[in-house]
Amino acid sequence: MQFGITNVIFLVLLGVTGFVAFKKYASLIRNIRLGKDLNRNDRLGDRLNVLLRVALGQSKMVVRPVAGIFHIFVYVGFIIINAELLEIIVDGVFGTHRAFSFLGPVYTILINSFEILAVLVILGCLVFLARRNVVKLKRLNMKELVGWPRNDANIILITEVCLMSAFLIMNSADWYLSTQVSKFPVVVKEFGLEHYAHSGVSENAFLLSPWISGWMPGINYIVYIERFCWWFHIIGICGFIMYLPYSKHLHILFSFPNVFYSNLEPKGKFNNLESITNEVKAVFDPSFTPPADAVPGKFGAKDVSDLTWKQLLDSYTCTECGRCTSVCPANTTGKLLSPRKIMMATRDRLEEVGRGLDTQGPDFKDEKSLLHDYITPEELWACTSCNGCTEACPVNIDPLSIIIDLRRYLVMEESAPPSELATVFANMENNGAPWQFSPADRLNWANEN
Ligand code: SF4
Ligand code: SF4
Repeated sequence: MQFGITNVIFLVLLGVTGFVAFKKYASLIRNIRLGKDLNRNDRLGDRLNVLLRVALGQSKMVVRPVAGIFHIFVYVGFIIINAELLEIIVDGVFGTHRAFSFLGPVYTILINSFEILAVLVILGCLVFLARRNVVKLKRLNMKELVGWPRNDANIILITEVCLMSAFLIMNSADWYLSTQVSKFPVVVKEFGLEHYAHSGVSENAFLLSPWISGWMPGINYIVYIERFCWWFHIIGICGFIMYLPYSKHLHILFSFPNVFYSNLEPKGKFNNLESITNEVKAVFDPSFTPPADAVPGKFGAKDVSDLTWKQLLDSYTCTECGRCTSVCPANTTGKLLSPRKIMMATRDRLEEVGRGLDTQGPDFKDEKSLLHDYITPEELWACTSCNGCTEACPVNIDPLSIIIDLRRYLVMEESAPPSELATVFANMENNGAPWQFSPADRLNWANEN
């Protein structure tokens, strides 16, 4: 164990990463809590079941097998390889070297599986980059992805390729130093490499390291390669942690709670507005008195604070994969609506409100709103309520619920339904049915020959 200036630098790096990440995640949680209350703590067993199937088991990802299988490589690789981070942190903080090598054969199995997974992650990322930039898959090249969303996806994929490559090279260089260094006593003395010889790694331990290290230059350079890749890997991961909350890759963290708190009601079942129900009850039963706290400030939703916390969590969890939009009949037939864009717009508006709260405090107000400034009535009325988007979403996001709430605002607060619906509403009010016939004429068909 050697504690020196590099360990201090490492600790400062961890501290800065922790501070920056904590601040940003705290503001994300504050933003989500701007949403209205919604009780999703019921049916614990069903929720755990959906979490295991959809989030951990990736059941909806594999519906499209190519993306599904490569996503599983990246997902499993990401989770398991990060276990190796623990060793890097222990080594960085305490000045040890391969601190967990005391695990013996278990350590050998772990590092070998990390190496294989790292190769699979690189493969998966290269396939995803090719689908976006070479094959130009339609759903990954739609107009809502122009600019930052496309760059964000590419940045994160390239970063993952770099981090995994650094991990492989670091491990290979380390294996070489650990197993071959004793053959070069002069170099060992000159560079102070004695600790490598005591790492506990045996010559036949790893499958890929000997092969990769065979491509490297002589021993004088390998020690620099190993140190460079070690620092590159850990600095890259710290940068990744700080970048994550600004990126669609936030789904790496948020998809688990988002799936756990999924809507477990049958698809197509809408909630009633309690205030409207109360009014109807009052019409039929004059003795009924609605509870005072049951009347909402407004009907439906105009801005992000009128949505529920789950709808806001949905927006932060959206991976912008476009599976929803690719099955949306409205989008397919050339209408303006894209459920992915509904989610992206909700997140953009929420971020804007969050920035306003940060700079101007809790009284922040602006002249904008989610409805009209980010999402137009034309998009909303194009929706057929088919639930295709909610079915297709791999992380159980519900764009339809936002569409319905914004529509409710248009109808009940702005009295602005499209003309076809205005006629239907008037008929229902006057005739008790969507048609333009008086109730007295309803049975006329029975007299027809
Ligand atoms: S529910 Fe609406 S937004 Fe979703 S797929 Fe159907 S038409 Fe498209
Ligand atoms: S809502 Fe779901 S399906 Fe649609 S883009 Fe976001 S993550 Fe993909």
